Amino acid sequence: HEVQLMRLNALPAETTDGKLISLKGNIEVPEEVEGVGNHGADGIGLYRSEFLFLGTAQLPSEEQQYRAYYRVLEAMAGKPVTIRTLDVGGDKVSEQIRARDEKNPILGWRAIRVCLSEVEVFRTQLRALLRASVHGQLRIMFPMISGVMELTRAMEILDEVRQELRDQEIPFNEDIPVGIMIEVPSAALTTDILAKKVDFFSIGTNDLIQYTVAVDRGNERVAYLYEPFHPGVLRLIKIVIDSAHAEGISVAMCGEMAGDPVASMVLLGLGLDEFSMSSAGIPEVKRIIRSVSMAEAEELAGNVMEMRSSAEIDREVRTYMQERF
Ligand code: PEP
Ligand code: MG
Repeated sequence: HEVQLMRLNALPAETTDGKLISLKGNIEVPEEVEGVGNHGADGIGLYRSEFLFLGTAQLPSEEQQYRAYYRVLEAMAGKPVTIRTLDVGGDKVSEQIRARDEKNPILGWRAIRVCLSEVEVFRTQLRALLRASVHGQLRIMFPMISGVMELTRAMEILDEVRQELRDQEIPFNEDIPVGIMIEVPSAALTTDILAKKVDFFSIGTNDLIQYTVAVDRGNERVAYLYEPFHPGVLRLIKIVIDSAHAEGISVAMCGEMAGDPVASMVLLGLGLDEFSMSSAGIPEVKRIIRSVSMAEAEELAGNVMEMRSSAEIDREVRTYMQERF
């Protein structure tokens, strides 16, 4: 079975009626690049850069960051690499950048909020990213955007850093695609506005589900309510995809849901363009995509969107997938 899946590596993730889907890997450290290459990925859809910042005595320097980004871009040999800017706070505790005494860290000072207040940390990372951009196909992604003002401010800082590099005659790619993660319900509901300002979206279902159903993703006691197939979650995903496509930008998903074979056909049917997951999951999702048509996936997604509970949807989709595969 494993061998059979590995044979898929050379083949594209294309539906039987010819829609090409991009399948990418998620990584946390540069060493994982090899695994991405071994599983037939079309690139890296999420490099969680915060791991450079966790468990270290000091903040990583511009040079250290540049080398890490450069290494990943070079190893991917021209395939796209989406690097997410620093996402600390919440459940990812950095020794250097740490919010004190928060009653609700998950709702607190984290991710882009940290970067917009610790601007020097953010600028250093952006400089390292821009400098590394000449070594491959970099895409920059901001985490936890909750609305247009945060995005505008992040873009302003990025523009300032670009200007600084131009002034210093340091080369960088002037056309780096810039996107945002959609992982806060307020962002999902305003994707019609946000889509006009970015080149791509990537849905972070780990946080999007947590914030939509108000369930801490790490709390065992309420874990039964953490449901990817909650109709509220599926409606948000549909809104994100439809408003992105209306503006002509593409939508990726890089949360755990993107790597769950049970969800593959529904997401495909909703119009998702890119699935990014830990690389071991890629062959299985590719096998599913290559065996179905868009018409079939759209029909399943359409049926599911009419249903009233995640239990009903889960039963329908599991039965369908079992009979089909
Ligand atoms: C997500 O929230 O789905 C995501 C990919 O980000 P992280 O898991 O790193 O918070
Ligand atoms: Mg997240």
